[in-house]
Amino acid sequence: MAKKNKKKERKKLQIRTGDNVAVISGNDRGVRGEVVHTQPEAGKVLVENVNVHYVHEKAGQKGRGRQGERVEKEMPVDVSNVMLICRNRECQRYDRPVRVRRIKENDGSRTRVCVKCEHRIQSD
Ligand SMILES: [Zn+2]
Repeated sequence: MAKKNKKKERKKLQIRTGDNVAVISGNDRGVRGEVVHTQPEAGKVLVENVNVHYVHEKAGQKGRGRQGERVEKEMPVDVSNVMLICRNRECQRYDRPVRVRRIKENDGSRTRVCVKCEHRIQSD
């Protein structure tokens, strides 16, 4: 994994904020949620209800006299561990995780489509 490949890594993620994704590996495998934040530099995304950890807040950290407490907080997961979901009912992978690729629209913009059915994937 840790290859010395410094040749202009593409830092753009296929996943964007607002996307609905499914986790495909790790403890939260099978869990779905909305992407709340992306970190293209680190190749990570923050997904709601995924990779939840307890964060211990020390007493008195947020104002005086407050007790320390445990707070549940999502931690970023690697983009390679999440996949987009195809919403096309005719697709053989409907409502399941799919790989996406980008196609060029007539106006020159790029859209993400499901590799199976070419259905456009928009974040809702
Ligand atoms: Zn599809």
